[in-house]
Amino acid sequence: MTVLIIGGGAAGLMAAITAKRTDPAAEVVIAERLDRVGKKILATGNGRCNFSNINTKPVNYYGKRPSFVNNALKEFTVADTVNFFNGIGVFPREERDGRLYPYSLQASAVLDALRNECEKLEITVLSGKSVKEISVKKGSLRAVFENGERLRADSIILAAGGCASPALGSDGSGYEILKKLGHTITPLSPALVQVKTDTAPIKGLSGIKIEGTATLIKGEKVLDSDSGEILFTDYGLSGPPIFQLSAKMPFKKDIFIALDFMAEYSLRQVFDILEGRKKALDGMTMEYFFTGLLNKRLGNLISRAAGIEKLSFSVSALDKDLLWRLAGLIKEYKIKVTGLNGFKNAQVTAGGALTDEFSPYTMQSKFIKGLYCCGEILDIHGDCGGYNLQWAWSSGYIAGKNAVLSEQENYEKQQ
Ligand SMILES: Cc1cc2nc3c(=O)[nH]c(=O)nc-3n(C[C@H](O)[C@H](O)[C@H](O)COP(=O)(O)OP(=O)(O)OC[C@H]3O[C@@H](n4cnc5c(N)ncnc54)[C@H](O)[C@@H]3O)c2cc1C
Repeated sequence: MTVLIIGGGAAGLMAAITAKRTDPAAEVVIAERLDRVGKKILATGNGRCNFSNINTKPVNYYGKRPSFVNNALKEFTVADTVNFFNGIGVFPREERDGRLYPYSLQASAVLDALRNECEKLEITVLSGKSVKEISVKKGSLRAVFENGERLRADSIILAAGGCASPALGSDGSGYEILKKLGHTITPLSPALVQVKTDTAPIKGLSGIKIEGTATLIKGEKVLDSDSGEILFTDYGLSGPPIFQLSAKMPFKKDIFIALDFMAEYSLRQVFDILEGRKKALDGMTMEYFFTGLLNKRLGNLISRAAGIEKLSFSVSALDKDLLWRLAGLIKEYKIKVTGLNGFKNAQVTAGGALTDEFSPYTMQSKFIKGLYCCGEILDIHGDCGGYNLQWAWSSGYIAGKNAVLSEQENYEKQQ
């Protein structure tokens, strides 16, 4: 039996390893369009690879039919993922909000472990091989490569990813392959992506990272909120809480992000802190008022936004009104959203292969026997925080396990 996996990303590597472990006699081949497998894995989690999250639940996933994830997450759980990685040498480290990383905090460790396991299992890796279509003739499957070569396989697992970050391999070609086979692709849009904002209120802050809370607001309505590391850029905002909000951002006018720079304190408490500093720093100028409390550039910006034009302004001249204004800006610094960055910078794709056309128990196409899909190519995307890789592992596991089953066994499972 020959199983061909198209795409050597997270889902494809997991599918290949699972197929070979399930049926050691099977010939398992990965075709990867880039010069090496797993390039995107190296970029995940800021180079640290947030490979899962202990809080993973179906509610963390989106798509036309998010319940499609239920079976895969039950059959290959977060605990199974941790065991799997432990078994190939990746010891886990838990960080904030249940995010799991390799203990060494190196994404390369995750990729090395996966590649070593592929080598140990004698999985064939064909790199620099881009598949342009799958031909189905009399029930027999063949992958057709860009250079015209063909490869016959009993099962094909399409794990070509979506359109996010095409420089890391996923250029959307998987969708074209599926469309030619009659599958439906739901509308595609970038998700978990940086946000473009009015740059005037953040002028001079590019490159600064802060810990805070970002709240998405439209008019008086709070749409969503998330906390963590927020990065100021020359076009707007980035960082996990911003990615998270980007997925919930309606493309409407008058959307703002309000930043809270001292989220653990109430407005009253921030006012009291500032009043205490006024006493302690008597005789100094505004240039030093925020030193040790906020990033200096951010402090200067907040002073200006409160109407204090000159940094030579004396701290002792801060009246109650000004202190309240400063406290208010620290607790709610509003920035107008002007748009989202595109697929080039997005972490994931919202939309993809319509899941109604695949079995959630096997990941097999309901139209073409022997064709399986897993990972981001399917119309499923998750929250920021390790959920997308967990989907790649869980769905890759199911596809790999079922791709080596006989037609009859698969038929029975799909019923
Ligand atoms: C910068 C960045 C950081 C991220 N950080 C995290 C994180 O910390 N935690 C998390 O959970 N998620 C993270 N994600 C999302 C996560 O990486 C993806 O959801 C996940 O990698 C998807 O896995 P996949 O195997 O389905 O697709 P991909 O990883 O995109 O792999 C698809 C593979 O298929 C290959 N391919 C495509 N078309 C063809 C073809 N026609 N022929 C042959 N090969 C083909 C590609 O080259 C690629 O190697 C991040 C994404 C990015 C871009």
